[in-house]
Amino acid sequence: MISKLLVPTDGSKAAQKAAVYAIELAKQLKASVIVLSVIDRRSFTGQTVPSTRTARHVIEPVEDYLREAAELYAGEIKKLCDKNGVRSQTVITSGHPVEDIVKAASRAKADLIIMGSHGKSALTAAVLGSVTYGVIHKETKIPVLIVRR
Ligand code: ATP
Ligand code: MN
Repeated sequence: MISKLLVPTDGSKAAQKAAVYAIELAKQLKASVIVLSVIDRRSFTGQTVPSTRTARHVIEPVEDYLREAAELYAGEIKKLCDKNGVRSQTVITSGHPVEDIVKAASRAKADLIIMGSHGKSALTAAVLGSVTYGVIHKETKIPVLIVRR
């Protein structure tokens, strides 16, 4: 029985398309949806940014800004769920998208992950985005449904 779907979004068109698909499926299955948006810490931490106090002054406003964006992306999909009478919940995390998607899915006991084949990157020639690639190669029993762009 599929009763809970995890829908990760980076606010891209491809993720939106996957979300529309997920909501349609959730309606048919009478399932609920967990919308997850991960603030990608790789975008502002790492070897180039030392973890000094000065760096934190720089990182915090960036993280706040990215959090606002993540809340907006997740909120848009939640609104679409409301419109369709699908129960939903939004989750925002800060970390690595692949790790957080798999973690959130198992924590929420999701039965299915529905995500886009691609995301925000301009590297549209790749067969599959690296986040989706990472999720399907992770050690997890939760099935993944990939919606083509
Ligand atoms: P890449 O990031 O590898 O350059 P890309 O941006 O085209 O390529 P992905 O990032 O793998 O592709 O995006 C594929 C799907 O993964 C998206 O449609 C979305 O469902 C999910 N995703 C990507 N980034 C995030 C994120 N930060 N938070 C939640 N979901 C994400
Ligand atoms: Mn991406």
